Amino acid sequence: MALVVQKYGGTSVGTTEKSRHVASRVKKTRDAGNDVVVVVSAMAGETNKLVDLCNQMMEPPDAREYDVVVSTGEQVTIGLLSMALKTMGQDAISLMGFQIPIHTDNVYAKARISRIENERIFDNLKKGRVVVVPGFQGIDDTGNITTLGRGGSDTSAVALAAALKADSCEIYTDVEGIYTTDPNIVQEARKIPRISYDEMLEMASLGAKVLQIRSVEFAKKYNVPLHVRSTFTETEGTWVTKEDEDMERVVVSGVTYDKNEAKVSILGVPDKPGIAAKIFGPIADSSINVDMIIQNISTDEHTDLTFTVPKTDLAQALAIVGPIGKEIGAKNIVTDDSVAKVSIVGNGMRSHSGIASTLFKALAAEGINIMMISTSEIKVSVVIESKYTELAVRVLHKVFGLSEEAR
Ligand code: ASP
Ligand code: MG
Repeated sequence: MALVVQKYGGTSVGTTEKSRHVASRVKKTRDAGNDVVVVVSAMAGETNKLVDLCNQMMEPPDAREYDVVVSTGEQVTIGLLSMALKTMGQDAISLMGFQIPIHTDNVYAKARISRIENERIFDNLKKGRVVVVPGFQGIDDTGNITTLGRGGSDTSAVALAAALKADSCEIYTDVEGIYTTDPNIVQEARKIPRISYDEMLEMASLGAKVLQIRSVEFAKKYNVPLHVRSTFTETEGTWVTKEDEDMERVVVSGVTYDKNEAKVSILGVPDKPGIAAKIFGPIADSSINVDMIIQNISTDEHTDLTFTVPKTDLAQALAIVGPIGKEIGAKNIVTDDSVAKVSIVGNGMRSHSGIASTLFKALAAEGINIMMISTSEIKVSVVIESKYTELAVRVLHKVFGLSEEAR
């Protein structure tokens, strides 16, 4: 008898009818002789509505009460799913985060799970029940309700699988798995059968939105193999696992893009020690994620600094950098929010050379100008004009052989 953790996203439990469908899948797994713990999200769109309500009442919302409100979407879906299972003759019980409990730190809206107690879950499994758990929720040391950040149900599922030492962790969603790129842009995009944690982390942080990044970090840390698959079909999805030799053979696994990028250039910055710290320290302190940074060679003891931030944080970044620019005597600050980041990711890059130059040539052939470049062991990212995003993604998908049948 295996222990399976299954997580169903918001679209999978978006209506009572869909929840019934989920219940029948759960029951099937249970009937095959497995213990099943189910993690569910709120109904699709529900958490957004709750966030809206908070903002209507108070801006910014009180942090503690925000979590009290936004955690309620999952209370509805766990109760309904348990009922659906009972109507099918499968005993089930829902347990809220605080009833398990799922312990977290006390950083509201982005709490981190510290420990999950498994006694109550195992007791109920032993009684033949399916245990239905809300994603996204936890409780801090003094009993306050916390939430894990948007998309946090993935992390709840992986953390539970680790805590219960489950045999597998299945993430059910509305797509069939992780694709080589966005199928809306490239028709020939294909489902990746297996991908490593590191590749998935790069893909997730570069704009592929299927899994919450923290859930992949968690899976990597505790070596929990994830199976990302569709709620609505029986086909195998994508396995996210430890790296193995087969994965090495594929040079590029996927092409990603992110249009939520903006570029800030500080021109004529004095080239002396401490300047970068002065600029980027305060930006980091306000939790703005600076991605790429480029500093030009200094001429006449001045240099230009260019960096990218999420477009949604541009105004805030400028408010911080403006006064600093004046203070350090920079000549000018210019911004550009019509840029996008396009990236290729693959473990095989570690052992193959010339990957970046293939990318540069392919973009040059299309007349696409590269504004910024950054690389890591397993990825190459470029910043380009955002109007070329789709073209760049298509060209790279092709040039790295991802559009061909059967890799
Ligand atoms: N309901 C939460 C959200 O919409 C958590 C989740 O769905 O993963 O962000
Ligand atoms: Mg999600």
